[in-house]
Amino acid sequence: MSNPKFRVAICGGGIGGLALANALATFANDVHVDVYEATSTSSEIGAGIIFWKRSWFILQSLGLESTLIDMDLKPPEDKPRPGFILRKADQKEPSHNFHRLITPHGSVAMHRAILLGVLREGVSKHCTIHYNKRLLSYNQSGGPVTMLFADGTSAEADVVIGSDGINSATRQTMFSNPTNERFSRPSWTGTYCYRSLIDSTKVLKALPGHQATTMPIIYMGKDKHTVSYPIKGNLINYLSFYTVPGREGTEYEGPSVVDGSCDELVKLFEEWEPEARTLASCVEKCSRWAISQHRGTPFCISGKVALLGDAAHAMSTHLGAGASQSLEDAYILGRILAHPAVNLRNVEEALQVYQKARLPIANAVVERSRTTGLLYELNYPAALGCLDEDATEGDLVENFIDSVYGQWTGQWEGLPSEDWARAEALLINTLGRSDDSEISIEKTSFNNTLGGFAISPQAQVVA
Ligand SMILES: Cc1cc2nc3c(=O)[nH]c(=O)nc-3n(C[C@H](O)[C@H](O)[C@H](O)COP(=O)(O)OP(=O)(O)OC[C@H]3O[C@@H](n4cnc5c(N)ncnc54)[C@H](O)[C@@H]3O)c2cc1C
Repeated sequence: MSNPKFRVAICGGGIGGLALANALATFANDVHVDVYEATSTSSEIGAGIIFWKRSWFILQSLGLESTLIDMDLKPPEDKPRPGFILRKADQKEPSHNFHRLITPHGSVAMHRAILLGVLREGVSKHCTIHYNKRLLSYNQSGGPVTMLFADGTSAEADVVIGSDGINSATRQTMFSNPTNERFSRPSWTGTYCYRSLIDSTKVLKALPGHQATTMPIIYMGKDKHTVSYPIKGNLINYLSFYTVPGREGTEYEGPSVVDGSCDELVKLFEEWEPEARTLASCVEKCSRWAISQHRGTPFCISGKVALLGDAAHAMSTHLGAGASQSLEDAYILGRILAHPAVNLRNVEEALQVYQKARLPIANAVVERSRTTGLLYELNYPAALGCLDEDATEGDLVENFIDSVYGQWTGQWEGLPSEDWARAEALLINTLGRSDDSEISIEKTSFNNTLGGFAISPQAQVVA
């Protein structure tokens, strides 16, 4: 690129970082992009990812839909779909299915490695991915931002985006001031997640007719829950959660992922109903994850540096929303940086618009995900009635079910293009008011469409 308006460095080539690189490749032709990834290939932690309509829309607008369809992935169906069955299971006697969640749209499950491959391929001609570049910290004092890497090298860019995951070095530098230091590292949710793939044949042998071999189920109980769903290859994807009372908010000591103990797992569920007990006893090998989060992140930008994805708002896994939120950040930030009104002089204000557009929404998803865990583990006020033995129907159960739906709806309501329309209006308004902006919005000639989407009526009015 001969004369870029600015150079962007993306630190972290995971889902969020690569999605941002794709957004810049799609919406900008005057931004130079480098990606710096710590490992020798992008991290592939966690096998499967579930996406809903909004995430698919983003992948579609980044021009990746046909590649995903070629890989046998189908867009989420645009009609109501039956979802997880809910059971209260923390008693020895067999339980009953007290509700089946219905979602207004379908979802799509994909392997993380496949998605990362598609995202990498999407930017192969547009930017350089530098592997084995682990960011240690950055410096900024007015001019370009300098990044320092673990291999002793450094690099400069006009804008640095930290998409370096939950233990982000970018975040640690941004929050290194003693006043904010408590936000620099994630805190433990108090929850362990045991993950495994279980052979359905073994489960059916142990308990003939076991419904987890054909249906997605959440077994709920005090301080624990199990999520299971059948996947290809006659397997059951199995996740069991155990929350240690009183440990939320503490710092987790030791590695966050270790080999799990099957004996420990069986013991955790030995007092539960037969279906849940059987699943635990059929696990042959598992990993144990300590789940951490960033709650109430107060800001995610500083000068010409911004955080994106888990670096900004890592969350518990109960809504399966972390990767989707990374995509949403990438879509909005990519479009802001690509916008013709944004240049090197006003890019700091533009990053403030990104923060206003995204951080409150993502922080709210962190809380909704947490609440979902409390509901499933009967630790939320709306869940307390479900502890009653006769709670098969009636207000308490209805209230509980409404609360569960209330956490999930953000996954499929609205479209990211509507959020972009609001962000674009704010951007134009902000840059128009900015004293040192060299752009006069009235004089800027916008196409009526940018990157394939019509400018929202609000944005046109403001402009
Ligand atoms: C068990 C589990 C199941 C999950 N299931 C789902 C799901 O179904 N749906 C969903 O939406 N989300 C899910 N998530 C959450 C999702 O995985 C994350 O939210 C998502 O990966 C965040 O993307 P990211 O790009 O921000 O961070 P990451 O995916 O963590 O990527 C960060 C990248 O930065 C690199 N990096 C790290 N440090 C540095 C450094 N110092 N310098 C340079 N590079 C660095 C890493 O190697 C990595 O490539 C799950 C998470 C877990 C743990």
